[in-house]
Amino acid sequence: MRFENYTEKEVAELAAYIGRHLERGAVLLLTGDLGAGKTTFTRYLARSLNITERVTSPTFTLIKEYDEGRFPLYHIDAYRADLDSDAELLEEYIYGDGVTVIEWPSCIEELLPKTVIALEFLMMDEQHRTIVVTVTDTNYQNLFEERV
Ligand code: ATP
Ligand code: MG
Repeated sequence: MRFENYTEKEVAELAAYIGRHLERGAVLLLTGDLGAGKTTFTRYLARSLNITERVTSPTFTLIKEYDEGRFPLYHIDAYRADLDSDAELLEEYIYGDGVTVIEWPSCIEELLPKTVIALEFLMMDEQHRTIVVTVTDTNYQNLFEERV
């Protein structure tokens, strides 16, 4: 599924739609270049889970947890993850009972579950992104087809 040339407002609407339908245990993988919009997407997703704290990039913290919403949101930026020392902690979150969003998932490939919602952000120009969605989690397979 592809969402072509989305403005930030449209990305916000897509994130809110996804957020409304998420259940505990969901894992979202966000890929795309620096500045493609992974953290921005996560910020809008958090809002739709009733998290009022503003989501910021967890780059220097590895994991940020937001606990005030419908269920916990774990925001992981795996860019600087060190598998030797971080694997155990990361797995506690990824297989925990909140929703986990992972930026730069390729850095922790071997820890990832098989059932995920993967979103790839492609920069079209300053203001527009194309988002390619691949769903391997059967709970969410129909979610994007049903969206109008
Ligand atoms: P990094 O890999 O460094 O963590 P990122 O993918 O998380 O980067 P963001 O931090 O979300 O990227 O930055 C995206 C920037 O692009 C934001 O400043 C956002 O406001 C801007 N932007 C402009 N248009 C869009 C759009 N259509 N969708 C998403 N973000 C957009
Ligand atoms: Mg980011």
